[in-house]
Amino acid sequence: MTDLRSYVRDIPDYPKPGILFRDITPLLADPDALTAAVDAMAAPFLDADIDIVAAAEARGFIFGTPLAMRLGAGFVPIRKPGKLPFDLHSFAYQLEYGTDELQIHVDGIKPGQRVLVVDDLLATGGTVEACLRLLEKCDAKIVGCSFLIHLEALGGEARMEPYDVHSVLRYG
Ligand code: 5GP
Repeated sequence: MTDLRSYVRDIPDYPKPGILFRDITPLLADPDALTAAVDAMAAPFLDADIDIVAAAEARGFIFGTPLAMRLGAGFVPIRKPGKLPFDLHSFAYQLEYGTDELQIHVDGIKPGQRVLVVDDLLATGGTVEACLRLLEKCDAKIVGCSFLIHLEALGGEARMEPYDVHSVLRYG
């Protein structure tokens, strides 16, 4: 079995002093680790009848599309302002390192479609909370959230309530 944790590189003081950044690029570069990561993120949702995987740029896209293919679902991008061309829902939110806004096409999700939210990492939960609020505006049926990494000390899971949260690797 692939030890995924051994492919995550710790970078102290990035992007700011005092932040320990979990760098997933070694995992992405290894074919077996990448496949094992996608398999593990998809596993709890294989029988969940997911219609759409939704993910925010940029690292969410890396895992969102292969997960959608693994689950037999479509993929809907959630993007920063100025990137999506059609009518939009928007939500502004607080980041671990500042503030930002995310957007989704108003017709990206049909009401009642079963949606899985995907990102590489759950930290404060601000990014995924914004995704959840956007999906609620679309009247999506949110089945849960799947992450490769959960930084448990930052308390992001509380912001995901009442939704089901799955993560492959947890750091205290
Ligand atoms: P949150 O919004 O939960 O505070 O932060 C999560 C978002 O920030 C994710 O989209 C993730 O890509 C990025 N992020 C924050 N900290 C890290 C980190 O230590 N490593 C990686 N790879 N991404 C991070």
